Amino acid sequence: MTEIIDGNAVAAEIRDGLGDAIATLKAEGVTPGLATVLMSDDPASETYVSMKQRDCEEVGIDGIHVELDPDAPAAELYDTVADLNDDDAVHGILVQMPLVDQVDTRRVLRSVAPEKDVDGFHPENVGRLVAGNARYKPCTPHGIQKLFEHYDVETEGAEAVVVGRSDIVGKPMANLLVQKAPFGNATTTVCHSRTADLAAHTREADIVVAAAGVPGFIDGSMLKAGATVIDVGINRVDADTEKGYELVGDVDYESAKEVAGKITPVPGGVGPMTRAMLLWNTVKAAGERAGVEVDL
Ligand code: NDP
Repeated sequence: MTEIIDGNAVAAEIRDGLGDAIATLKAEGVTPGLATVLMSDDPASETYVSMKQRDCEEVGIDGIHVELDPDAPAAELYDTVADLNDDDAVHGILVQMPLVDQVDTRRVLRSVAPEKDVDGFHPENVGRLVAGNARYKPCTPHGIQKLFEHYDVETEGAEAVVVGRSDIVGKPMANLLVQKAPFGNATTTVCHSRTADLAAHTREADIVVAAAGVPGFIDGSMLKAGATVIDVGINRVDADTEKGYELVGDVDYESAKEVAGKITPVPGGVGPMTRAMLLWNTVKAAGERAGVEVDL
């Protein structure tokens, strides 16, 4: 029987655990603070940021939201990040991507103080992750490792295929999977749009992590029986719903479910884990900043 990996349930458990850590911090006079910065009028980005703020409120993290005019000069964003770096009430800074054209995204990623970079995208933090000494693991791959942990997915010695090589999902996921560490030690292949025969790789995989942003393109015929299938994709496709669209993953869930041993649904799989791990990184940042040991 295929096991459905319930990201909502695992994320709720993680958030409950964070409640205890936040109480410990508050008893020491520290309230974790997460700043979100939005410089875009992309409706999806607006939704993501408001969800992150709501998450903060629910667990007792101070949410500080800065919204910049998408037509403002890039300097406004650079100055905002500099101010947040200097603000002692802010332990984590998240600049919502993608940014408007006039902004140099790499400059922004470099300008967030590494110890406040709860996304884990600053070059120093990327380097530390690759070296096996991560300060903050990027939220999506970290959340996937938590799913492996909760669902007893054996990564050691497994053949893992990551589909996608983005800096925010594919590459950090592959880096974590190859590490000599718990929920690593997998023999890891990274596939992308130039991979000659994707199915030849996925069919050999004990673990497939799909992060390509192509709706439903990995189907059951491309999977090995019993494989663990982690669907990162969140794609809007036209549908006869109130909003006029629905969200689907990169995996064709119905056919994949017939073959996989364990599988994440979309929605309700990886998405809630990404959100929970942002809170997790923020609490970690607050504890380290304050010199208070928190149990995470
Ligand atoms: P990017 O567009 O940055 O990267 C997509 C990657 O997939 C690229 O490396 C690309 O290859 C590869 N790719 C595209 N088409 C194919 C194909 N047909 N076959 C093989 N590889 C292909 O996307 P992101 O990594 O940012 O996001 C991926 C998906 O995950 C999106 O749907 C996004 O919305 C979702 N997402 C979900 C999150 C969550 O919490 N659940 C968090 C972040 C993202 P190449 O490099 O050659 O172009």
